[in-house]
Amino acid sequence: MLVWVLFSKQEPTQYNGLVVLGKDMAQITLPDGSTLEIADGTTAKQLAEKIGPGLARVALAAKINGQLADLSTPITANAAVQIITFKDAEGLEILRHSCAHIMAEAICSIWPNAKLVYGPTVEDGFYYDIDLEEPISPADFERIEKRMGEITKADTPFIRKQMSRSEALAKLSSDRYKTDNINRADSEIISFYSHGDGFEDLCRGPHLPSTGKASAFKIMSVAGAYWHGDPTQKMLQRIYGTVWPTKKELDAYLQRLEDAKKRDHRVLGKQLDLFSFNEAGPGFAFMHPNGMIVWNAIVEFWRDVHNKYGYEEIKTPIILNEQLWHKSGHWDNYKENMYFTRVDDADYAIKPMNCPGGCLVYKTQQHSYKEFPMRIAELGLVHRHEASGVMHGLFRVRQFTQDDAHIFCTPEQIKPEIIGVIELAFEIYRAFGFEDFHIELSTKPAKHIGSDEIWDISTNALEEALKYKKIEYKINEGDGAFYGPKIDFHIRDCLKRSWQLGTIQLDFSMPQRFDLFYTDKDNTEKTPVMIHRAILGSFERFIGILIEHYGGNLPLWLSPKQAGVLPISEKSNDYAKLVYEKLRDARLRSECDMSDEKIDVKIAKAHSRRLPFMLVVGPKEAQSGTVNVRMLGDKVTKTVGIDKFIAIAKLKIAEKKAELVFED
Ligand SMILES: [Zn+2]
Ligand SMILES: [Zn+2]
Repeated sequence: MLVWVLFSKQEPTQYNGLVVLGKDMAQITLPDGSTLEIADGTTAKQLAEKIGPGLARVALAAKINGQLADLSTPITANAAVQIITFKDAEGLEILRHSCAHIMAEAICSIWPNAKLVYGPTVEDGFYYDIDLEEPISPADFERIEKRMGEITKADTPFIRKQMSRSEALAKLSSDRYKTDNINRADSEIISFYSHGDGFEDLCRGPHLPSTGKASAFKIMSVAGAYWHGDPTQKMLQRIYGTVWPTKKELDAYLQRLEDAKKRDHRVLGKQLDLFSFNEAGPGFAFMHPNGMIVWNAIVEFWRDVHNKYGYEEIKTPIILNEQLWHKSGHWDNYKENMYFTRVDDADYAIKPMNCPGGCLVYKTQQHSYKEFPMRIAELGLVHRHEASGVMHGLFRVRQFTQDDAHIFCTPEQIKPEIIGVIELAFEIYRAFGFEDFHIELSTKPAKHIGSDEIWDISTNALEEALKYKKIEYKINEGDGAFYGPKIDFHIRDCLKRSWQLGTIQLDFSMPQRFDLFYTDKDNTEKTPVMIHRAILGSFERFIGILIEHYGGNLPLWLSPKQAGVLPISEKSNDYAKLVYEKLRDARLRSECDMSDEKIDVKIAKAHSRRLPFMLVVGPKEAQSGTVNVRMLGDKVTKTVGIDKFIAIAKLKIAEKKAELVFED
């Protein structure tokens, strides 16, 4: 979730809204590296006009020396300036945040008692937390939208006004929520934005130039939310909305949501008998026989690839003494998410992560640089106590299997090891049909352990690995873990939804906490570099993603059943049985429908259970030793010899092909 920070850490550029043309000129550097001279005090909007009328028409805001600002901001010194449009992620953010103000105005005009609390953006939209006694229900959405429509149609400008913190506090003294927002701001200059008929809201900005650009919106839902997420505080009403640059994009988004509903893995999981949940264990998935076939197919492939990349596998206990978690730092930093138990009068914890167990295995032997890099994988079952409200089918569970691994190496080996992990990750993602990746690199946070030198070496190694692989990546400055920098892998599914799957994290803390050593070339004992990495993240969640990505039609190699024999009538049952036995002998997961149903009904049933290949057999097929093959989701049928069909199916399984259609 993207949270809109209300106030920037830096002082906003001071200006009074007037364009003062100084006698000095400012030199502007544009994103393409070209430069431009403008009169000191020229606004970002005027700069956009100077660059070109096309850009000026689509300009929304500006980034001045890396800081987002309104288009009306005057540029007062030499600066690097980027004009922000809807093509930029920041442009969409500004649109969504501005629309939160528009919705707030609409709500306040309908319910004048409504108190505004906080209105950040979220993925694909925004929300506003509102304190109002009267409950807002979906039945009210239409009139809120109607009022929002009037506001956007009026196309009035967002106008910024700023004052000192003490003035702002005096102005809002009767509003506990806004007073709290001001108190949490670290800037002495507090800004307000108004639009329309004098509606005003405390905000850091920036916003759209005017309300008209936010006309493709929709209110999505309403939910309860505690102030500051604190259950001891008042329950507020959180109204969610979405907004897009054009009506067409809004419609496409709403269509994607509809499509996603049809692919909901919770519904398909039940329909295809893959898994279930039970109130006996909230957040703990029960995998059924069909689900285990998918699971085991993934494990088998995962082991195979890890073997190829030089990994060994371990398994460590789920319950370990509490003292270990004090040592690892989990007690101090992660206790709230852990489960505990008592055995023989001693306190134990159920592992939320596999790393401490991995360190204990490392410590059972002395190690030399000659053994490095050591790549130790573990399909580790972990328990994390998520709040009950955030659980969602297989996507958010309290117990899951992590495809974990720890690499122990020397600092010089970081770069080649990272390259290896990237190659392994891509090989795995591609096998599941994911081609659209997005990589983020998170660097040293303000609060961190380890010397600047080791941070520099390892952050450079991560960057160099990405550059070596010619991978585009986004840098999240200061967003690394306190114990080391990291790379995150995101994939996009067929509905363009982004999922964070893999992560590579360097760790300077845990090897020290566990006194891990190795003997280096010069015979001295040194602390190894520890790399934590996961590729799929959680097996449970990944299976949920696969189900939704494929809409239940899993690729042949993952499908619980791969082929079904459907005899046209009882007369063909003997031949059907023969075909079925051949399929089984060839290790194809198969079934044979010998029921009394008519063939159309048999086909329809096989379809609804997502059987990839339906082999229809009658007297004609029996005579020629063939099968009439129907492919799931395809209208074409093909008649081929039974042995040929088996060879084709086996090849598709070996190549992990999702496409079922074949040439005969
Ligand atoms: Zn705002
Ligand atoms: Zn780890």
